[in-house]
Amino acid sequence: MCESRKAVLEAIAKEVMSCTKCQLHKTRTNAVPGEGNPCARVMLIGEAPGYNEDIQGRPFVGSAGNLLNQMLKIANMSREEVFITNVVKCRPPNNRDPNDEEIEACKYFLLAQIKAIKPEIIMCLGRHSTKVLLGLSGLNVDSIMRVRGELKKLLVDENEVICLPTLHPAAALYNPRLKSLLEADFRLLSTLTTGTRISGLDRWL
Ligand code: SF4
Repeated sequence: MCESRKAVLEAIAKEVMSCTKCQLHKTRTNAVPGEGNPCARVMLIGEAPGYNEDIQGRPFVGSAGNLLNQMLKIANMSREEVFITNVVKCRPPNNRDPNDEEIEACKYFLLAQIKAIKPEIIMCLGRHSTKVLLGLSGLNVDSIMRVRGELKKLLVDENEVICLPTLHPAAALYNPRLKSLLEADFRLLSTLTTGTRISGLDRWL
């Protein structure tokens, strides 16, 4: 099963690397399709590649990536166990926010990845991915602080998935208060992923 999912993810990654569907292809060094376990129970979705990610072609490898690794330890998980990607796969110039057209153009790849992996839990890292994921169920997100740490049940391509929105690690890097909120959300992730689950999840929702 994982082999066939891996093959699908590799095909998506190949398409991403030659994609010209939005203007971000003009300024990227490398597209960053994402990486991790094709049979991951948990998918982590950030906003967009930054400087280091663009250079290396890998997600979350800079200082925000180091913080994400620390958070995964809190959840008793490793990067190898999860699948990590972003809403848009190419770096916006000067790390600006991706715009609506870019997010819409790239959403096809994200949905294809979710469909291939069939995760039990999607942890949205920051406002943009939370907006995109909750938007699939018609939910509006005006502030990440209002929804972080709250579990939502979503249908993605007819598969039920639990969405856990949290802050983007970059936002928490130099802010102890936000870092402690991020830690709390990863402790919740740890609770959710303990045991064989998913049957016990309904009690959280
Ligand atoms: S951001 Fe997405 S849609 Fe835009 S060029 Fe990159 S892969 Fe294609």
